[in-house]
Amino acid sequence: MKQIDERSLVVVSGPSGCGKDTVIRRLMELDPRVKLSISCTTRTPREGEQDGVDYYFISEEEFKRRIADGDILEYNFYSGHYYGTPIKELTDRLDGSTRVVLVIDVNGARNVKRMFPDSLLVFVEPPSIEELERRLLGRGTEDPQQRSDRLRIAQGELMQRTLFDRVVVNDSVDRCASQLQSIIEEWQRR
Ligand code: 5GP
Repeated sequence: MKQIDERSLVVVSGPSGCGKDTVIRRLMELDPRVKLSISCTTRTPREGEQDGVDYYFISEEEFKRRIADGDILEYNFYSGHYYGTPIKELTDRLDGSTRVVLVIDVNGARNVKRMFPDSLLVFVEPPSIEELERRLLGRGTEDPQQRSDRLRIAQGELMQRTLFDRVVVNDSVDRCASQLQSIIEEWQRR
């Protein structure tokens, strides 16, 4: 694998519905050096999601083939589907002038930290569990069973936030994104 500048690698996790994707989109507007790693998944696209933009949507068979071929850096099985980071997403983007952000679950974050100890792990926390529930319900992309699955996983993820280098609360997208930008800058100056 091409040499990776670990301090340019930022892993963002947080429970489903905490708004981490929106925060990262805002961060990319604030800082053009930030590039998003696009994961592959076996789940079906939500309305409005685009292949190659939000995820690479692939079949389970294809996912397993990519694992066997050694093309996947880390992966996890979450709520009935596979999600994984293609190695190419990192090697194509980490050219020294960029900061690559991986938006992945807590297990994935821990695996990346094991592989790249100098990477920065940031946990995005919702203001409260009630607010998380409200946001999940509000976006209406999951059925009640999937929602309760995601809330159950969220409780476990929230308990693991102490394993992260930094924790930010997403009480406002703008505030949270600029806090994240400062954290990344401070991390790279170390
Ligand atoms: P969603 O279905 O809401 O898009 O994603 C479900 C969970 O999978 C989220 O916590 C998301 O961050 C995580 N996820 C997305 N891509 C990856 C990946 O490549 N690896 C891992 N480990 N988790 C991922």
